[in-house]
Amino acid sequence: MAKKKVRTTDTITLPCGCIYQDKGWLLVCIHECNYHKRKRTAKRPYRSKAECVRP
Ligand SMILES: [Zn+2]
Repeated sequence: MAKKKVRTTDTITLPCGCIYQDKGWLLVCIHECNYHKRKRTAKRPYRSKAECVRP
């Protein structure tokens, strides 16, 4: 695997594991680490009781 730097898109790998793609004007998350993924899912909106369909 050659480490080439792409002109238009740059891939940024954060120390935590997240991988972002820098498109110059926009950062696109192409991979989210477990930590941030869990953090995001754990942060539920206040009225999420209706969506909770746990048996
Ligand atoms: Zn992360």
